[in-house]
Amino acid sequence: MKNISSLCSVVLVLWCLPACQSETGGKKADSKTISFASRVTEAHLEEDNWLLHGRTYDEQRFSPLSQINTKNVSNLSLEWFLDLPEARGQESTPLIIDGVLYASAAWSMVFAIDARTGKEIWRFDPDVPRSWGIRACCDVVNRGVAYWDGHILFGTIDGRLIALDAANGTEIWSVNTIDIEKPYSITGAPRVVNGKVYIGNGGAEFGVRGYVSAYDVLNGDLIWRFYTVPGHPEEPFENEAMKMAAKTWGGNWWELGGGGTVWDSMSYDSKYNLLYIGTGNGSPWNPKLRSDNKGDNLFLSSIVALDADSGEYVWHYQTTPSEGWDYTATQHMILADLHIEGQKREVIMQAPKNGFFYVLDRRTGELISAEAFVNVNWASEINLETGRPEVLPEAKYWETGKVTLIAPAWSGGHSWHPMSYSPDTGLVYIPAQEMAFPYYAKTEMKRNPLGANHGIDTRLAEIPDDPEIITAVKSAATGHLSAWDPVSQKEIWRAQYKGLLNGGVLSTGGNLVFQGNGAGSFQAFSADNGDLLWETDAQTGIVAAPVTYAIDGEQYITLVAGWGGIVPLMTGPVSWNDGEPVNRSRILTYKLGGTAALPKPKDTIQKMTDVSHVQLKVDEVKKGFKSYEENCVQCHGAGAVGGGVIKDLRFSPLLNIPEGWHQVVLEGTLEDRGMISFASVISPEESELIRQYVIGRNQFAHTIGDTTRLLLQK
Ligand code: CA
Repeated sequence: MKNISSLCSVVLVLWCLPACQSETGGKKADSKTISFASRVTEAHLEEDNWLLHGRTYDEQRFSPLSQINTKNVSNLSLEWFLDLPEARGQESTPLIIDGVLYASAAWSMVFAIDARTGKEIWRFDPDVPRSWGIRACCDVVNRGVAYWDGHILFGTIDGRLIALDAANGTEIWSVNTIDIEKPYSITGAPRVVNGKVYIGNGGAEFGVRGYVSAYDVLNGDLIWRFYTVPGHPEEPFENEAMKMAAKTWGGNWWELGGGGTVWDSMSYDSKYNLLYIGTGNGSPWNPKLRSDNKGDNLFLSSIVALDADSGEYVWHYQTTPSEGWDYTATQHMILADLHIEGQKREVIMQAPKNGFFYVLDRRTGELISAEAFVNVNWASEINLETGRPEVLPEAKYWETGKVTLIAPAWSGGHSWHPMSYSPDTGLVYIPAQEMAFPYYAKTEMKRNPLGANHGIDTRLAEIPDDPEIITAVKSAATGHLSAWDPVSQKEIWRAQYKGLLNGGVLSTGGNLVFQGNGAGSFQAFSADNGDLLWETDAQTGIVAAPVTYAIDGEQYITLVAGWGGIVPLMTGPVSWNDGEPVNRSRILTYKLGGTAALPKPKDTIQKMTDVSHVQLKVDEVKKGFKSYEENCVQCHGAGAVGGGVIKDLRFSPLLNIPEGWHQVVLEGTLEDRGMISFASVISPEESELIRQYVIGRNQFAHTIGDTTRLLLQK
């Protein structure tokens, strides 16, 4: 296969010179005559398209298109938009293949759209039961589809991998990739290499064992599966790597799942035929509960290189041994060739949640360098001799027994939001986040209604509505775009945002970097010096990454916009920029001189339910808070405020209708909207205490005059 594909690429290059010089400044491939296998291997030659999740297998998310550039970007304006049906988090990176845009959206829906006009060609709704929402720790998002020879491939929140006919959106095959008795979910985009589709899953917050699987694109047959943490040591190990990993665990980890889920990033090196996977946090977070505080717990929080054909282990690098802070290494991995100390090095780069930027040799896994790119107080440095972090003793809250404010927080110095590497500037553009979190160790684990281990055995501090307190907390929770030199391991420039949560990044041959932000602005910066050159009101908070493409010599910039994800779900106002962000989920597409305009929002004001007549008892409200925190906070947010993703409970009319409230909490009357019955873990008395707590939140809002919100209408 290798010989054929390199022959094809020679043919492609010869055929393309000079006939493929397009008006957008790049080369075009004749897509009809060349097999898709060679097209994706040479994806960098297809400047008009965005064939793979990171555009090319090295996942640089750089497009050489230069028609839109620093000189004319001020003329960039909206050309078309398409409303999406569900106002939940939108984290998808679209693909653009020969004039068709393929994007996924919340609740694992998939759309094919005419990329020139925005006209919908087809849509596919996998009808994920809304009750599955509770198994997705971090909103019902989807980060994208993969394409291979007429197949559109994607995962669903309920664990299916589906292949659609790219021409008409009909289902070709569908396989279940998970044990449906366990709280797995899929939010990540599959990757495709040589007719194999790779898919991981999430669930380490709830007690699962992580793995990645390879399926045959043509029929959905399972080809191989690689587990990221060992199973029961009395059963045969799946491979030598699991035998090695088991020596780094203690306690009865297999009963708790262990974690290490492959929920987002992968990249592929065609030269070495290596598939790189990033693995997640431990399950539960606390190493004492998880592993009796023993060992490094391989392969948590690691980059693991696998043989792409067989799934066999080749090497690993663990960013955070015996992980205890939700420091996943599932973050975006970029392959590049860098000149370091006079040598060309083939590297893989990652800015994982733990706050250090890593440069590794991608053939061997050798650590080349690592420096902090945000505020870090859990480790003093990464020791280049041992390759290990120098962890500060006070950061091990499970040993000290103290509440400890640690940076980065579980939200990470950087999360799934894609970075971008520009070979023109040599810089990596990181959507960075600054937040500290008060960790403390509980001695026992909470179980959710699914019977799963609750991995979050740490406490989320109460965040009241008091504007002064919110301002104080928020001042320590900010985001920025960091232009990072991976050779010198230094920041070259930064764009500062008020809010923690902002969008993924695109860089282009026009010396531009594009990023949306949580305040609802979509912006372009000069890639070399960070000058803000263009911005537009997107009418919605943005978390996804933009991409670019060209049709008939005209360059477009597009992104899937819509506020959401775990940070707004759980922290509410802490994640906001200026006021409550809104979610108007849409695909927004721009070009020079574009002529479309977003409709003026016709929002109405909703007034908070009046429950001033209810007399509360302080000790009951306190008990209600404790129960809320254990059972409700992960979706309904700190202080029951909602975070702009799920409805603000303080506005619930059921605060005045106790029977209705208890029916929702205990009988699941709103299960079709995702609120399943909590009767297995919440007693009728507790349900009432939680209602009292939310009434208290409502009454407090009245005392500070914060009693209205926008009801969004597109
Ligand atoms: Ca996690």
